[in-house]
Amino acid sequence: MTFDALLQPLDLGFTTIKNRIMMGSMHSRMELLDRPYERLAAFYGERAKGGAGLIVTGGYSPNESGVIETGAPVFDNEGELPKHRLVTERVHAEGGKILMQLLHTGRNAKIPQPVGASDIPSRINPCTPHILTSDEIEQIITDFAHSAVLAQKAGYDGVEVMASEGYLLNQMLVTRTNNRTDQWGGSHENRMRFPLEIVRQIKAAVGNDFILMYRISAIDLVEGGATGAEIIELAQALEAAGVTLFNTGIGWHEARIPTIAYMVPRGAWRFAIRDLAAAVNIPVIASNRINTPDVANDIVASGDAAMVSMARPMLADPHFARKVAEGKAHEINTCIGCNQACLDFIFTNRVTSCLVNPKAARELEFEENVKVQGASKNVAIIGAGPAGLSAACTAAECGHKVTLFEAGSEIGGQLNLAKTVPDKTEFYEFIRYFQSQLDKYGVNIQLNTPVDADSLKGQFDEVIVATGIVPRIPDIVGIDHPSVISYLDLLSGKAKTGKRVAILGAGGIGFDVAILLTHGSGDCAPDTDAFLKKWGVDTSMTQAGSLSTVGPQFPAPAHQVTMLQRKPKSLGRGLGLTSGWVLRAELDAAGVDMVPGASYQKIDDQGLHYSVGGEDKVLEVDSIVICTGQDSNNTLYQELQGAGINCQLIGGASQAKELDALAAVSQGMEVGASL
Ligand code: FAD
Ligand code: NAP
Ligand code: SF4
Repeated sequence: MTFDALLQPLDLGFTTIKNRIMMGSMHSRMELLDRPYERLAAFYGERAKGGAGLIVTGGYSPNESGVIETGAPVFDNEGELPKHRLVTERVHAEGGKILMQLLHTGRNAKIPQPVGASDIPSRINPCTPHILTSDEIEQIITDFAHSAVLAQKAGYDGVEVMASEGYLLNQMLVTRTNNRTDQWGGSHENRMRFPLEIVRQIKAAVGNDFILMYRISAIDLVEGGATGAEIIELAQALEAAGVTLFNTGIGWHEARIPTIAYMVPRGAWRFAIRDLAAAVNIPVIASNRINTPDVANDIVASGDAAMVSMARPMLADPHFARKVAEGKAHEINTCIGCNQACLDFIFTNRVTSCLVNPKAARELEFEENVKVQGASKNVAIIGAGPAGLSAACTAAECGHKVTLFEAGSEIGGQLNLAKTVPDKTEFYEFIRYFQSQLDKYGVNIQLNTPVDADSLKGQFDEVIVATGIVPRIPDIVGIDHPSVISYLDLLSGKAKTGKRVAILGAGGIGFDVAILLTHGSGDCAPDTDAFLKKWGVDTSMTQAGSLSTVGPQFPAPAHQVTMLQRKPKSLGRGLGLTSGWVLRAELDAAGVDMVPGASYQKIDDQGLHYSVGGEDKVLEVDSIVICTGQDSNNTLYQELQGAGINCQLIGGASQAKELDALAAVSQGMEVGASL
């Protein structure tokens, strides 16, 4: 397949963007004041080297009141310029272009006293905002223009005015958050005044030869949000005020509809972007859940948008654009939409990274590891789960001769189970990526080859054991009853449940099994229309916020499910911050009963006997699926140690508790690079 549409330059008159691939803005937390900008420069430099036509930084506030959180960057004085020049010079040296995002968070700021259009608090910061006076609003407009001038001085190619996801510009635009009665509130014309003034003043300050991108909310997905007609009226007015390019945002952060996590079908929001692009005469950039060159190219080729923004996919693979241009799309490490190491890290005060590419935002650390190639060693890796695969690819990339042994008939380990869960089909891509790397670096793959100590003796310089886990079987009377099924057997298709099911254990796997059982098998392929209907999206965009009048319409569940755990806390607390709420909402809609604080007594023909708070209960079910965690499968390691074979243990085989794919991949990479 060719990707001609994606590779066309975009001529803006005064400057040309070399292709239609943009790295969208992400707050990486590398921008925080106490962090050196060399790391940020290396991060963006790698993405420019990897061919992205345009890059947008994380958000910088034009003043103290608009920061994302306490300590987040403010870009309001010349003293800031030298460190930003590190970034812009590095990106330009690699042939890229970079815009600074200017962001005022308004009532969402995680600071003691946020400001807002009105005194309506948000879910993100429940503090009542200080109502901005008219003078304060004028000052913020001036501050935006001042920051844009500074960005120009720092060598940026333009600015992106952040006006989506429910931040201050969005807050001024809609009645949900703006009930003012002065010239900044009331009619739509008044509510548009703030963003329009910002654009006019920036334009007047920076001139015509500087990109002025506006990130417009193409669909709000919140009650009291904008209608499609209002969005188009705003876009046309902004175009007249001097915007060069529109980037798009989908949904406010506080929306209760998933917009970017893995359960959102690829390209699901094209309908909203298409309408906008048709209504204006300047290029519009599509965003949200676009992660493959096929989808991206199709969006541009069809005219739905002129360009495509991908933020997380550039964490996953900084060389996405180069691989597209060189006809190596099959080598792209695809963002699987898990949010585990990007958004979930940011929201827990860590620097961003990526599950499929733990080198992301650690470019300075890993640069040398791969470059320094010692003598080529003969390396055996046992187990082709993510830990073993990651170790094998890294070691082979470093120049070692690698043999990868796998007992099963395919590579991937537990990823092969994850990909069978409805909405988690993106895991296929991770396995496909690993296969491309094994091929590229000539790893000798031995499938259907369970290894024991004898088969390794004396043959290898280095042995890495990545034999994963075994499911934990709890000690419950009747655990061998025919109604009991292991998650392994259920997910691999070896066993089926009856209609009424109890799931013991409510970790990530328990939740995935509940999703599978409520969805029913066979509806794995993500379907955009079904997704939009399920979550109550008004695709005609005639309603405020584009929420349909009938609300969410979840299909009837395929099984009647009860989930239990021993801990007295509510179930699902350990799930990812930015995806766990979606799973809980889906299971809630499917009528799943969640039982915390359960003490399991026995399993028999009647079902599951347990007690809660001292009260004995019987759950009459047809099947009981065991998802009670995992233990390390380190038998081989112990055998090898006993036989005097020196080896390293990684992944679930080393530590099963709280071991996820992110930890497995990271460990594999570190060990593979250290040989
Ligand atoms: P494994 O993936 O278990 O791989 C071990 C491999 O070693 C297996 O292929 C096995 O066949 C092979 N092996 C064992 N013994 C031998 C031997 N003697 N010789 C040769 N080969 C051998 N994690 C996340 O981070 N995010 C998720 O969303 C997520 N979803 C999941 C969903 C499901 C349904 C499941 C089951 C897991 C999920 N996980 C998820 C967990 C993640 O898959 C594991 O943490 C990860 O696979 C562990 O990697 P590993 O390489 O250590 O082990
Ligand atoms: P887990 O998250 O540790 O959950 C295990 C569950 O079993 C818990 O609910 C635990 O709760 C229960 N349990 C543990 N020991 C038990 C025992 N002896 N008897 C009865 N119940 C017991 O493990 P997992 O669900 O197996 O997942 C494995 C790994 O894969 C985890 O690291 C997880 O993060 C990862 N994963 C991640 C995702 C994701 O979407 N991010 C999805 C799937 C898996 P109680 O002790 O309270 O009963
Ligand atoms: Fe994508 Fe997951 Fe990586 Fe985030 S952590 S960039 S969602 S693959």
